[in-house]
Amino acid sequence: MTTGMALPSAELDGATWREATDRLVETTCDLIRIRSVNPPPVEAPDGELLAARHIADLLVDAGLRPEVLEPVPGRGSVHARLRGDGSGGEPFLLLSHLDVVPAPVERWTHDPFAADLADGYVYGRGAVDMKGMVAMELGVVRLLTDAARAAGRDPASDPIPGLRRDVLFTCTADEEAGATAGARWIAEHRPDWLLAAGAVNECGGVATTVAGRRLYPIQVAEKGYAAYRIGVRGTWGHGSMPRDDNAVVLAAEVIRRLAVPGPVRITPVMERFLERAAAALPPPAATILRGLMSGSPEHAETLAAACDPMYARALRALVRDTISPDVVHAGVKYNVIPGDAEVVIDCRILPGTTEPEVRAMLLERLGAALAAVCEFELIVFGSPVESPADGPLFELLAQTIVDHDPEAIPLPAMVPFATDAKFTVPLGVPTYGFSPLRLDPEERFLERFHGVDERVSVEALRWGLPVLYDVTRRFCG
Ligand SMILES: [Zn+2]
Repeated sequence: MTTGMALPSAELDGATWREATDRLVETTCDLIRIRSVNPPPVEAPDGELLAARHIADLLVDAGLRPEVLEPVPGRGSVHARLRGDGSGGEPFLLLSHLDVVPAPVERWTHDPFAADLADGYVYGRGAVDMKGMVAMELGVVRLLTDAARAAGRDPASDPIPGLRRDVLFTCTADEEAGATAGARWIAEHRPDWLLAAGAVNECGGVATTVAGRRLYPIQVAEKGYAAYRIGVRGTWGHGSMPRDDNAVVLAAEVIRRLAVPGPVRITPVMERFLERAAAALPPPAATILRGLMSGSPEHAETLAAACDPMYARALRALVRDTISPDVVHAGVKYNVIPGDAEVVIDCRILPGTTEPEVRAMLLERLGAALAAVCEFELIVFGSPVESPADGPLFELLAQTIVDHDPEAIPLPAMVPFATDAKFTVPLGVPTYGFSPLRLDPEERFLERFHGVDERVSVEALRWGLPVLYDVTRRFCG
């Protein structure tokens, strides 16, 4: 990596940054107050559309001509294109989603939809997943359109000064529930909203302090998912005369056999992640990570247990295909032995694992006798995805983080969950989880996702905006 390159953000003056960061916080709060909950609740069925329209209004104010799509009533996505002069190749995509998961109000200390500012944090559902990043991407767009206007150009039609590629700004609906009303639909019907030489999206580029070192995992890969409904067939009977083929008893054994952690497999991205993290960290943490790299399941269990449970859970999931039994249905009455049971399992698979391989693994775990009374139905499937963990865009993301935090240790990383990258990567768009935030060392970022009292620090947002601006200017310059 080269250092000391000029930062485009340094060319803007202090007043411009103060105004841009004030706008950023205001937009984050305004978006949190729009209840774009997914699945859409009866009392607010069109939250995503309202969020998309709110952003479209801001884009119009910025001089652009945005488009809002509503493939399903109330489920809105929004897009705008900023022109470059065309000499730099394919566009750069700023990708995000507008929906949020529900929030159990009674457990929060702040109203999850009030966007309260307290102790330097914006509280609210979506603060980290991912309205803060929506606002940051919008902040970059507004800085670019400001520059066009200052140069006497029309941002809707003229090239933005200094941009050699187009910049696409796309916010989707329905990321949190399968994307059929969002990115999945857009990839099929409006790929022009997504097609780019590279994209940044949620999750990565966030400071994670381990043993006093600031790691910035940049998401280059994500696991796939395969959910199955397992019908378990037993025999109906009278509860006074217990049966071994009671479907509940069989289902319990199915769950017991499937829930055991499987073998460890270290993918190339995880190998690079563990190697770089181990090289950067002091002995106890480095030893844990090197143990994981050895691939032995005992290491994965005992060593992962030795670190913070939040990281242990993630690490355990990232070194293997996982199975989580999440739904069980059976039984009609206390004295009736049920002859049918249903178990729904959530399998998360590493890059390289296929759906038939998952099925084979499930059958093997159950053994022939138990498998013979089970019927598998695939409910939903999403492939694992990977983008290059080296190459120009990844290196640029890593370098720009270091330019803004000289102590930063950027790492390529995989996440155990799914994002809209599931739909951009198959279109040939390298997609990186990169929502730059320099967090307080004590901040438990992974627990904020979908968590109670979700919040983002105002300082972290302020730090992230120029990072994202510099990434955009550099990649498109
Ligand atoms: Zn998200």
